[in-house]
Amino acid sequence: MTTTNTMPGAKDVVVIGAGFAGLSAAVALASKGFRVVVLEGKPALGGRAYSFSDAETGDFVDNGQHVLMGCYSETLDFIEQIGARDKLVFQEDLEIEMLAGAGRSARLRTSRLPGPLHMSGALLGYGHLTTRERVAAMRAGFKLLAMRRRGELKNLTVSELMDRLGQSENARQCFWYPISVATLNDEPESSSAELLAEVLKRAFFSRRRDSAFVYSRVGLSDLYCTGAKQFIERAGGAVETRATVEMLEPGEGGRIQSVRLRGGRRIEASNFIAAVPAPQLMRLLPENAVANNFFARLAGLSSSPIICAHVWFDREITDSPFVGFIDTTTQWMFNKRRIFSERGEQHPGYLSFVISGARKLIDLGNDELIAIVMRDLKRMIPAAAEANVVKWLVLKEKQATMAPDLSSHELRPTVETPIPNFFLAGDWIQTGLPATIESAVIAGRAAANAIVSRAGG
Ligand SMILES: Cc1cc2nc3c(=O)[nH]c(=O)nc-3n(C[C@H](O)[C@H](O)[C@H](O)COP(=O)(O)OP(=O)(O)OC[C@H]3O[C@@H](n4cnc5c(N)ncnc54)[C@H](O)[C@@H]3O)c2cc1C
Repeated sequence: MTTTNTMPGAKDVVVIGAGFAGLSAAVALASKGFRVVVLEGKPALGGRAYSFSDAETGDFVDNGQHVLMGCYSETLDFIEQIGARDKLVFQEDLEIEMLAGAGRSARLRTSRLPGPLHMSGALLGYGHLTTRERVAAMRAGFKLLAMRRRGELKNLTVSELMDRLGQSENARQCFWYPISVATLNDEPESSSAELLAEVLKRAFFSRRRDSAFVYSRVGLSDLYCTGAKQFIERAGGAVETRATVEMLEPGEGGRIQSVRLRGGRRIEASNFIAAVPAPQLMRLLPENAVANNFFARLAGLSSSPIICAHVWFDREITDSPFVGFIDTTTQWMFNKRRIFSERGEQHPGYLSFVISGARKLIDLGNDELIAIVMRDLKRMIPAAAEANVVKWLVLKEKQATMAPDLSSHELRPTVETPIPNFFLAGDWIQTGLPATIESAVIAGRAAANAIVSRAGG
């Protein structure tokens, strides 16, 4: 049966997908007096940044630890807009502990100098580099910015850039590659140097507070999904889950007239935003649009996986809120109990581990993956060997983010499409940033702005 929900006004917008991009677009539109219907196919909101409650431990488990930075200005503004800023923890200055083996700890800690000089302080005090490497890394940072300004990074991968900048193997492993893999989510041999330069410029060569880490003290879904839904509903809009859009239906004048949902329901609107990843978008497009080069080229984008392991121990094994591991398969460890600012009576040691750019590991079984994580952990923090594992969980995100390869720059689309009332949003849209939360929110808000300005608002 086909039921049609007709949305008469020019200010009616359907947003498909309720991740950071879709929800930030919908909130931006709702704040300008538009009536928005958000349609999310899954039973819960949040897309690739969601959390769930673990029945056994009572903990909120994020699908993977997400870290924001002070330079995520659009994201922080969105979180402020929905009244959730107090759910975030802001480091005052960037401070990251990096472990290169048991007891071999060094900190990247920015100095109290104004940006970008604050970064020089961090590098000069970073114990995993020799004095010569610290000076060379500082020089390389400024050279990299100059190359970016002159447009010389377009065809370079991160590892080729490191060759050009004369960076030693040790400087790569202890400094450049941990940043590159964490922010670009792929191997330095295939990742775009241009994207890395954009991250470094925004995060490390700007204001001091832009470099600091920001993370959620609550589960991810609680951070932004609840507040965004309430905001949209208060403005007269609706947010539906288990509402999978199967097709965008064409109307007159090359426009989209309606969406058809699984089960047959149709919803008409004046404008539509698809805030879904590229492969899902391709399945929704009307037949004549698929052949259009604007959309056809999107098939060239590929993705890169992330593996996250959550381990509950019977005791605390570290005081640090998060630690970077050098020269191990596991890259980051987050101490969830510290991050959630609560100490559970039952399972005090809840740790979360991240392996980004995990192409070579994604097909391994969960038992093998947890063995790798535990081996790395014991190498870095031997006290872990004395603790008992209460429970573990491995979550694989096979298509975690768009691969940041050299071709992605040309392939990423704009929010405006050749279809006049149809817009795109998502972390993979051309924002100049890697596929991150900030990229998703920039794209979501840009799609909303495009609709507002066309409506003359
Ligand atoms: C494990 C992991 C760790 C990460 N860590 C970080 C980090 O530390 N920092 C950072 O900035 N970024 C991180 N990211 C990236 C970040 O999660 C994404 O950039 C961001 O969540 C993307 O949001 P989005 O709205 O663009 O897409 P999505 O979150 O994918 O949202 C799209 C939504 O559309 C829905 N949908 C798809 N098709 C349909 C349909 N036909 N009908 C209805 N709904 C549909 C999907 O169910 C989904 O909810 C990480 C990602 C992962 C997977």
